[in-house]
Amino acid sequence: MYIDGKWIKAKNDVMFSVFNPANGERIGEVPDGDRRDATIAIEAAQKAFQPWSALTAYQRSGYLYAAYRIMMEQKEHLARVMTEEQGKPLKAARNEVQYGADFLLWYAEEAKRIYGETIPAPRPDQRFIVMHQPIGVVGAITPWNYPVSMITRKVAPALAAGCTIVLKPAEATPLCAIEVFKILEEAGIPRGVANLVTALNPKPIGEEFLANPKVRKLTFTGSTEVGKLLAQGAAAQMKRISLELGGHAPFIVFHDADPIHAAKGAILVKFLNTGQACISPNRIFVHNRVIADFVQEAKARVSIMRAGNGMEEGVRIGPLVGPKALKKVEHHVADALDLGATLVSGGHRLTENNLDKGYFYAPTVLNDVTQKMQIYREETFGPVAPIIPFESEEEVLEMANDTQYGLASYVYTRDISRAMRVFEALRFGIVGINDINPTAAAAPFGGMKESGIGREGGREGIADYLETKLGGFSV
Ligand code: NAD
Repeated sequence: MYIDGKWIKAKNDVMFSVFNPANGERIGEVPDGDRRDATIAIEAAQKAFQPWSALTAYQRSGYLYAAYRIMMEQKEHLARVMTEEQGKPLKAARNEVQYGADFLLWYAEEAKRIYGETIPAPRPDQRFIVMHQPIGVVGAITPWNYPVSMITRKVAPALAAGCTIVLKPAEATPLCAIEVFKILEEAGIPRGVANLVTALNPKPIGEEFLANPKVRKLTFTGSTEVGKLLAQGAAAQMKRISLELGGHAPFIVFHDADPIHAAKGAILVKFLNTGQACISPNRIFVHNRVIADFVQEAKARVSIMRAGNGMEEGVRIGPLVGPKALKKVEHHVADALDLGATLVSGGHRLTENNLDKGYFYAPTVLNDVTQKMQIYREETFGPVAPIIPFESEEEVLEMANDTQYGLASYVYTRDISRAMRVFEALRFGIVGINDINPTAAAAPFGGMKESGIGREGGREGIADYLETKLGGFSV
């Protein structure tokens, strides 16, 4: 763990093992921290807060630029650690490291743009000035599916704003987190400013973040279920919260779109990270008039995808994160088939050529999915593309919005008026229009409804770490 500028063991001296999900091999061990470790890390962050927040924006920016440069130099190394620990193919891991580094660069720049405001006051002898100040110590919890970028997406804006941070990474991917913190250390970021607590059991760490009054903000990326627990806990001390939670993205293909081009996009984004992405399309609505061509193209594309260890050249589908994830996928597919879905491709676990040592599932396409099926309601978080036929714009918008989630959505159409209507009508924080990758460090990422609170990336991403202070002056 990295606390107060030192690499240390857990207080209880216990370690836990980290495994490669592609073959079950043990690839390392890390300290199994508990609540006491979190308390010490929070102390360190509290001590570091005053001096860090008193630095000029230019100074804080300089540290983030340095971290960016080092991450770019270590891109290949970091990508390899990620593929081993999390399973995504090496090429995708390299892309994620780049995305992760982009946040360091973007917030190195944004640190210098925390502008205030003067507001015309109602009285002639009065002046209003608005300034923004860092919230204080931040407690951060991140998931395993994007184990580098989900960390920099929080650490970079927090540090740029002048906050200090204690981060607890997912128990499945602490090695990536350690690599990121080594970079922060090498960048010379002062002791106590960024602290890392690894733990097999996340609960006590979360409890300390909630109970310790020194923590003024909690930022979390993960499941909606845990997000709700943390939001309830944060209410007791009215801590600020940012939550990036689950999604259940609709992907809508209208009859005026090219179904071949749309299928290419849908399959690319669906099978990214083996479907383990919060923005993964989970309900693919295709107009009756183009569905035959769409399904045929999707089947052709999926049938040539190779599953395996992400270190191997040409592998497109990595393993699922663990046995529970595999069970959920198997269950969603079985339930859909029981209730009348058509199996277009896949539909089974992969065990040949040693794949049984990991958690591999064949890339799967289902057609004729209906509202009765579990996959229609729940996030699968796996390599299954469920296709639902539709007839009218009105009907498909109603179906797309009929979910408690509101993170990403996708639309394929060549009709510009329809594109605008649908963009406005979708209750989702992100809408990709003929675009499967509407994300970047410069753009606000986040969800409506039960997909979360707040935004990461862009101008909004740093605002979430700042308080607004109004000064009323009599002159
Ligand atoms: P998860 O909620 O189980 O775990 C996420 C993190 O929370 C991990 O670090 C875990 O250790 C920690 N955690 C779990 N229980 C906790 C508790 N009681 N107290 C404190 N911390 C706790 O989710 P997951 O399975 O790791 O990740 C998948 C989920 O994350 C999906 O729902 C996905 O959609 C979502 N996700 C969202 C985004 C986004 O930006 N919206 C990005 C990636 C993943």
